[in-house]
Amino acid sequence: MSYLTLKDINKIYPNGYHAVHNFNMEIEKGEFIVFVGPSGCGKSTTLRMIAGLEDISNGEFLINGKRANELGPREREIAMVFQSYALYPQMTVYDNIAFGLTLQGVDEDVIEQKVKNTARILGLTDYLDRLPRALSGGQRQRVAIGRAIIRKVGVFLMDEPLSNLDAKQRVTMRSEIAQIHRETGATTIYVTHDQTEAMTLADRIVVMKEGYVQQIGTPYDLYFQPANVFVAGFIGEPPMNFVKGMVKGGKLDFGGNIIDLKMKLGDKTAQYEGKEVVFGFRPESIELGKVDGAYQMEAMVELTEMLGDNTNIYITAGEEKAILKVDPHDTPAIDEKITFSVPVENVYVFDGETELVIK
Ligand code: ADP
Repeated sequence: MSYLTLKDINKIYPNGYHAVHNFNMEIEKGEFIVFVGPSGCGKSTTLRMIAGLEDISNGEFLINGKRANELGPREREIAMVFQSYALYPQMTVYDNIAFGLTLQGVDEDVIEQKVKNTARILGLTDYLDRLPRALSGGQRQRVAIGRAIIRKVGVFLMDEPLSNLDAKQRVTMRSEIAQIHRETGATTIYVTHDQTEAMTLADRIVVMKEGYVQQIGTPYDLYFQPANVFVAGFIGEPPMNFVKGMVKGGKLDFGGNIIDLKMKLGDKTAQYEGKEVVFGFRPESIELGKVDGAYQMEAMVELTEMLGDNTNIYITAGEEKAILKVDPHDTPAIDEKITFSVPVENVYVFDGETELVIK
């Protein structure tokens, strides 16, 4: 039996808006789950239903196999960290972290030991006497996390906890959250719109779009085996290149380059004759020059971006555009005509109508 079960969960807001459709998932103890997707896709709504802050319109939420729909937030043994830290400004770091336990009337010695232990995990030992205003954004966020993890709860829910931090703090805090998870082993559900955060933190990622789950899988699965065009385009930076077109004679035209779909799809190619398909390849999974047995293409270089560890090349082939990621030492000149190859195993073909990957 799984620790948390979401069975056909739906959310219909009082104004009739259907924000979450048939969300199904089993979550095991200790997992780090990330809900990711563009703004408005239903991530927070789902998290809030798990927290008990929002009613479940339809479906069942189970904790250890027992129906929990009707349990209040406290009874669910769940702690939530919000994007606004919601610290008490007039209280020290110590008192902020201790607050929940003080309220419960826990023994002061026990509180002190727990606060110190929590502060150690979060690197806040030297800041316990400070007020929140004398802390950096990252430190405040750590206090907010401390307040959540000091309570012995089963699940931590985090809703975009890093969105108020600057880019550098976000990267630091991201690795700290991973570290805290390793130390506490606590089941965590984390909401973000940032695919990099999702990829770096998650054991499993749930990709959502417009209220529907698109795919659930490990970062590896989502990157190498995307279920559809949306997931393929959402995971990876710069995003996957897509060429959409009608199949003629088993072939697709990419700005004058003829793509022979048989190389990838074999006998299935015939099923798509006269239909639209989407041909996808990632910027980083190409090689410059001609490689035997690979898809070989020609294009013009429009722009290059030298980023240090790689160069992004913006190319055009006829009316089509794409981005290639290459070794900076191989950076071509602007307006140069280049040939590049995409190994067949690095290519994805999607049904143009359903947008599902063709396996
Ligand atoms: P996300 O967290 O992915 O950005 P949300 O779960 O916050 O998305 O919202 C999903 C959708 O539900 C959005 O279109 C949002 O406008 C809508 N929504 C959120 N709260 C309410 C509400 N109280 N009443 C009606 N619609 C809502």
